[in-house]
Amino acid sequence: MNAQIGESSACATALMCGVKANFETVGLDTRGTLENCYSSFASRVSSLIDWAQESGKSTGIVTNTRITHATPAALYGHSPSRYWEDDSKVPPPSRKSCKDLARQLIENDPGRNINVLMGGGRRHWLPKVANDPEMTKEEGRRLDGRNLIDDWVRDKKKRGLKAEYVWNKGQLDQINPNQVDYLLGLFAYSHMDFEVDRDPGPTGDPSLADMTRSALSILQKNPKGFFLFVESGRIDHAHHYNNAYRALDETLALETALLAALALVNPTETLLVLTADHSHVFTFGGQATPRGHPILGLDNKVSDVDGQPYTTILYTNGPGYSNPRSVPMNVTTPMESKNQVFTSAVPPVPRQWATHSGEDVPVYALGPLATTLFAGTFDQSYIPHAIAYSACLGEHRLRCQGLDNYVTADDLRGTGSFKRVSS
Ligand SMILES: [Zn+2]
Repeated sequence: MNAQIGESSACATALMCGVKANFETVGLDTRGTLENCYSSFASRVSSLIDWAQESGKSTGIVTNTRITHATPAALYGHSPSRYWEDDSKVPPPSRKSCKDLARQLIENDPGRNINVLMGGGRRHWLPKVANDPEMTKEEGRRLDGRNLIDDWVRDKKKRGLKAEYVWNKGQLDQINPNQVDYLLGLFAYSHMDFEVDRDPGPTGDPSLADMTRSALSILQKNPKGFFLFVESGRIDHAHHYNNAYRALDETLALETALLAALALVNPTETLLVLTADHSHVFTFGGQATPRGHPILGLDNKVSDVDGQPYTTILYTNGPGYSNPRSVPMNVTTPMESKNQVFTSAVPPVPRQWATHSGEDVPVYALGPLATTLFAGTFDQSYIPHAIAYSACLGEHRLRCQGLDNYVTADDLRGTGSFKRVSS
């Protein structure tokens, strides 16, 4: 609400909770303000996972970022800062009143009732004295001395739930979905590796598609249905590094995960929605570049101005700023300002990390009511309401029982009575 360009936690709040949020806050409406613990009490909003659990559906989160990272956090967490992933990041005066995101995930609703949690970020679950099982020189980051992984397992056992914790691919492969209703998979100390760097062996990590298949095998057992969120969160990180190869390769990993899901669900009864939380300063240009030309290479012609070669993929800012050749225009009049030629790629604006960008992103949908609900241009915060309508969740939970709410013109003028009809 208060920034021109989106960032993951506010965008995820719009995408998952259906309300716009302030920059770097998570799971709060606009009364929640950055780093203000007190502001987070009255501003908490529910998410698609809350709505799905209310309807008796199984729920799951799969990501290759830390599971406490900005985007997945909006599904279960409420925090005035996306960076409060463990208690060491919560400022001491706020620690008593505001729980960190990892603790919310294991102690609060809906986090403690999520069936499948897979991703990275063990460092936010482990106490400072505990060493990571893979990165054995690294310690956990929690200051409260708690091992939240042990606490997650203990909570499930105490409640008589069939639960397993895994931290590598070999262990995940051993999971029998018929004997497990709750699965916690934390496969990395921080974010999981990019797909191209991933060790696919048994001591390595599952792919996004592996995790998606595994999650569905558990969630699909519920006759009331399920909600699964799958994030290819490292596309964003590669773009921040201006690393087009990894950004595109991670996008292909998302496609592979989508194909894995499509092979396991029936799109006449399961809605699939695919979108991005925001864009990046990434462009793909060229004029007479022939079809089939290497996408990561140089254009087939040099610049017709300075005779220099250029790549068809470019970033408008970020760390890839060597070889400068920009000719900035001296703007003195309003007309010159309107006619100003902006920096076109090489050299980009030097930044250690590229920024996000503000253009519209696509929303692809398949399944019940997909073509009706997901046509045209709409606000990001519309998306979860449309999903809820299709799946009869939250405010639309009565729709599939033949009951629906509708508002007449008289209601809008304040003269009618709000009607509930049976169809
Ligand atoms: Zn980003």
